[in-house]
This record gives sequence, structure tokens and C-alpha cells, in this order.
Amino acid sequence: MRREDFPILEDKVYGKRLVYLDNAATTQRPRALIETLTDAYYHHNANIHRGVHHLSQDATQRHEEARQKVADFINARSAKEIIFTKGTTDSLNMLAFSFGEAFVKEGDEVVVSQLEHHSNIVPWQMLCERKKAKLKVLPLDKNLLIDTTQLNNILTNRTRIVSIAQVSNVLGTIQPVEDIIRLCHQHHIPVCIDGAQSTPHLNVDMQSLDCDFFVFSAHKMYGPTGLGVLYGKQEWLDQLPPAEGGGEMIEHVSFEKTTYNTLPYKFEAGTPDFISSCALAATIDYINGIGRADIYDYEQELTSYLEKQLSTIEGVKVYAQGKEKAGAVSFNVYHNGQLLHPFDVGTLLDHQGVAVRTGHHCAEPLIDYLGVPGTVRASVAMYNTQEDLDILITALKRAIEMLI
Ligand code: PMP
Repeated sequence: MRREDFPILEDKVYGKRLVYLDNAATTQRPRALIETLTDAYYHHNANIHRGVHHLSQDATQRHEEARQKVADFINARSAKEIIFTKGTTDSLNMLAFSFGEAFVKEGDEVVVSQLEHHSNIVPWQMLCERKKAKLKVLPLDKNLLIDTTQLNNILTNRTRIVSIAQVSNVLGTIQPVEDIIRLCHQHHIPVCIDGAQSTPHLNVDMQSLDCDFFVFSAHKMYGPTGLGVLYGKQEWLDQLPPAEGGGEMIEHVSFEKTTYNTLPYKFEAGTPDFISSCALAATIDYINGIGRADIYDYEQELTSYLEKQLSTIEGVKVYAQGKEKAGAVSFNVYHNGQLLHPFDVGTLLDHQGVAVRTGHHCAEPLIDYLGVPGTVRASVAMYNTQEDLDILITALKRAIEMLI
């Protein structure tokens, strides 16, 4: 599907076809985005919101149209609910700070799960340390899914927020977030969904998901680096204080008292990345042009094919095998019961032109839980082909031969 739209894929690595299977870390960018970026710097560059002159108004309009496009893409009720940030990490840090200031006190509890990315652990942990609150962890079931049956044991009347990933960046598994959101709402507890790994693969819909906050990064969905989104229901965002002070987030400033701007500007201090927002808009047009349902179906074919091929190789253990996945498949290789170190496997794959990721994938608590030093993760995007996966499998067999 559309490999030719991604110019970098024509490059060679060690003289070989680049087989890029590190999409969960970052995706490659389509020509549509690259051209929009260049065009924006050539023809639409002026600081937004503040200028009366033509170029500033043009840039402002493009930025605000991009916000609306993002709102439509995730089916938010309003563009006011879309806050542009630097990425998922930035969104989660802003939310943990701001929500924490408003709602978390000593003795309160914040809940995450065992499989979270460090970005969805550390900001909450820092908040808990600051406020003397407690970080609680939802366990996993035997299928490596968040164990929803444990929710009622974990939630208490001190739980202030639950923050969980929709798709695990290590395992690729789609988590039962709908059930978790419904159960939390029965207890009037808001839920934040880390959508860094779901937005690139699934049709994420804020109104049907009904989460209270949702965060994602543009660079993992074929968009520009340095840009992300913090979505929040307006009724929540209205209650939260700004996380950062500066230009644009204010209504009036005096030394005695500053009042704050309306949504979403209250949360966007300083000059936003109005070039990247336009590039993200172009990316969304590109994705919509292909169709998210078709992308989903195509990627499903790829991941099941990959799992099937991996399971034909002796000694390969696929994590959460057979469970519904979006994008990533993690595995390890054993020989005579001994683990072949994932770094060694990854390095030998790289030498054959195959880019995968190895290690803890910024999810050390999950890797500790799996009881391994790391995994090898192959993650697909819409431009990968069955041929890419065949090359991976051949390269993996060769790597194993070299290691045993
Ligand atoms: N959460 C998840 C589930 C992720 O996969 C990632 C990126 N690997 C992040 C958060 C952090 O995203 P970023 O580095 O773009 O801020």
C-alpha cells in the first residue's frame, strides 16, 4: 500500500532495500507532508494570532483549520478540545501537572497499568511525590491484557484519575479501554487514554470512546515531529489551570493579577508550532484519502502474517500470540532454553537491512514483569509489504544460525 509515497523507503541501507519495521518508534513521512512543510516555510511563515498583516492572518487561519481537522479526525465535539503540544510525553506531563494542581491532594490515588510507557508512568509518579498521593497499578491477566476484573479492587473513593494505554507499545495488544472507561465512569473517575500507539492504526473516536482525556504524537502517525495533541472534554479542561505561563495563554496581564485566555489557548503558552500543525493537516488528508478502515484491514493482514511466520521458527516466542494487535509484534528467541539476547538479534537483523527495535521499549515495568532483559519488536505501518516481512523472517533465521 503506497510505499512509493514515502521517499525515504527508496534509500538503501548497507546497499540493501530498507525494511523499516520500527514504526512504533516513529513512522516515515509521506511526500504530501514534506511538501507541505516546505511550502509553509516558503509561503506561509508568520507568527500566528498576533498580527494584523496578511501573512500572519493566513498562517493563523491555516493553524486553526489544522486544529479543526484534528478535531474531526478524532471526532471531538469541538476544536476547543484540541490542545497542540510537543507530543504524547508533553501532553501527559501537562495533564499530570494541571490535573494534579486542581484535583489531587495528599492521600489521593492515581491509577496506571503494568504495561504503560514511561511517559504514562513518570509524570504521574512525579505528581504523586509532589502531592504525597499514591500511584496504584492495574495488573495484567494471563493474556497480557489489563485485567478489568481487578478494577473494582483497585479503585477507591480516593482514586482521582486512571491513565492507561489503548495499545501497548511493546506488545501491540489492543487493551479493553472501553470497559475500563465505563467502569471508571460508574465511580465518577475520569480516564486518560494514551493513544500514541492506537491513533496510527485504529479509528479513534472521542465521542464513542467517551474518555475524558486522550493524548497522541503526530510523528507516530506519518505526521511531523515535535507536535502532539492533548484532547480533553471541555467540561474538564475548563476546570483545569494552565500548566505553563507566557504569551497567548493570557487574557490580561498586570503585576497584581493575570487572567487566562479561553480554550484551547489557555494551555498553549508561547508560539505554537504552526508549521507542523499544517503538516499534520496534510497528513490527515493523506490518511483520509487512503481510508482508515482499509489501512486497519491491511495492517491486520500484515501482523497476522508476521505472527504466523514467526511461529514457524523453532525457539521463537511471540508475546500475546494470537491476541488482537495494532502495529507491533514483540518476540524473543530461545535456543536450548537459553535466551538469545534481543540486542544481538536486532544488530544482526540491522546488518541485513532490517530495522527493528530491541530493549525495554521505555516500558521497564512490563519488561520486568515478562522476566526478560528486553524483546525484539517489529512494528508495521501502511507502507510495509509481505515482502518486507519475508525479508525479516529470512534475516531472522540467518541471525539465529549465527548466534547458536
Ligand atoms: N506512550 C506510548 C504508548 C508510546 O508508544 C510512546 C512513544 N514510544 C509515548 C507514549 C511517548 O511518545 P513521544 O515520545 O512521542 O512523546
